[in-house]
Amino acid sequence: MPLAQTNTSVPVIVDNEKCIADKGCTVCVDVCPLDVLVVDSITQKAYMKYDECWYCTPCEVDCPTGAVTVNIPYLLR
Ligand code: SF4
Ligand code: SF4
Repeated sequence: MPLAQTNTSVPVIVDNEKCIADKGCTVCVDVCPLDVLVVDSITQKAYMKYDECWYCTPCEVDCPTGAVTVNIPYLLR
């Protein structure tokens, strides 16, 4: 699986202002079937570590604070 180069180049973006992973939330990490989301050990915020995605969207739907945005490619919509 390709390692993401930068957080803004990947299809799933987490708003660090809204993410409460630093308070113990791991919902998006837990629901992702590909295990591509992780909580950064330094920032304590979730982010997309691996640039792979099924665009299934439970990470976005289940996030309690609405911090996750899944940018679904136009051709898949
Ligand atoms: S589900 Fe939302 S609040 Fe929880 S870790 Fe993921 S992005 Fe952060
Ligand atoms: S859309 Fe699906 S595959 Fe992509 S990061 Fe979210 S849960 Fe994982």
